[in-house]
Amino acid sequence: MTQLIDGKAIAKEIRKNIKEEVVTLYNEYRLIPGLCVILVGEDPASQIYVRNKERACKEVGIHSTVIRMSEEVTEKELLETIERLNRDDTMHGILVQLPLPGHINEDAVINAIHPSKDVDGFHPINVGMLMTSQANLQPCTPKGIIRLIEETGQNIAGKQAVVIGRSNIVGKPVALMLLQKHATVTIAHSRTKNLAEVAQAADILVVAIGKPDFIDSSFVKEGAIVIDVGTTRVNGSLKGDVKFDEMKEKAGYLTPVPGGVGPMTITMLLDNTLIAAKSSL
Ligand code: NAP
Repeated sequence: MTQLIDGKAIAKEIRKNIKEEVVTLYNEYRLIPGLCVILVGEDPASQIYVRNKERACKEVGIHSTVIRMSEEVTEKELLETIERLNRDDTMHGILVQLPLPGHINEDAVINAIHPSKDVDGFHPINVGMLMTSQANLQPCTPKGIIRLIEETGQNIAGKQAVVIGRSNIVGKPVALMLLQKHATVTIAHSRTKNLAEVAQAADILVVAIGKPDFIDSSFVKEGAIVIDVGTTRVNGSLKGDVKFDEMKEKAGYLTPVPGGVGPMTITMLLDNTLIAAKSSL
């Protein structure tokens, strides 16, 4: 029988620990972790994400600030704001909400954030550190996925892991992290031939495509751990990449959407902000 991996409950427990650590940090060092989120433009989904991040920070005692910039802001102005935040000792984490308007070069913006404040883990230095197993700040969604897999109590070492999707923010980093945990890792993508056959080999299947209900039970081996990263809004509700009703008869462990990976992503952002603050001591 399939066991659901309750991301919401796991995230709640982790946030409780973060909150306690935030109190300790203040009592011992008078240090309050600070996160600054920069939001450019009026994209409704981004507004919701930023509001959720603010709420989560408040819940654990992290000081959060949101800088809202108009859609017309120049790249130069944005880079100057990041430079100022890089020098601000009260801000330990800087996050620029993506996507950015087309006239702004996202790579230039990510590269401008000081790596020690890059709580998204997207800066090339942090990506390189991840590659060489030295990362202090790991990207939030992949980090949350690994925690969810570990919560099953199953050992990652020696398992066959298949990651479907090769984006820089989910697919590639989660594959690297699984490799670091000694899984044998295959990365599949839109050009992969016989995808179902590749996926069927997985003891751990991570799906990050962005196509609702794309993965049905024919893609999985009985008893596999299935992590559904996909979130697509369909008729007002969030849909994963995995056909949940079919999969919950076949997978050993399965994350729901919503309530699986999503709550972990923000929680790992809080964790990274705490790590960045502690590293500043
Ligand atoms: P992305 O940058 O669009 O990447 C999608 C990946 O899926 C690409 O590597 C693409 O292959 C692959 N793909 C597309 N169609 C495929 C197919 N038919 N067969 C096999 N592979 C296919 O997306 P992303 O940023 O990684 O996000 C993926 C999903 O996760 C989205 O739904 C996103 O909303 C969600 N997400 C959720 C969270 C969360 O916190 N819950 C966080 C981040 C992302 P190619 O490289 O060959 O094009």
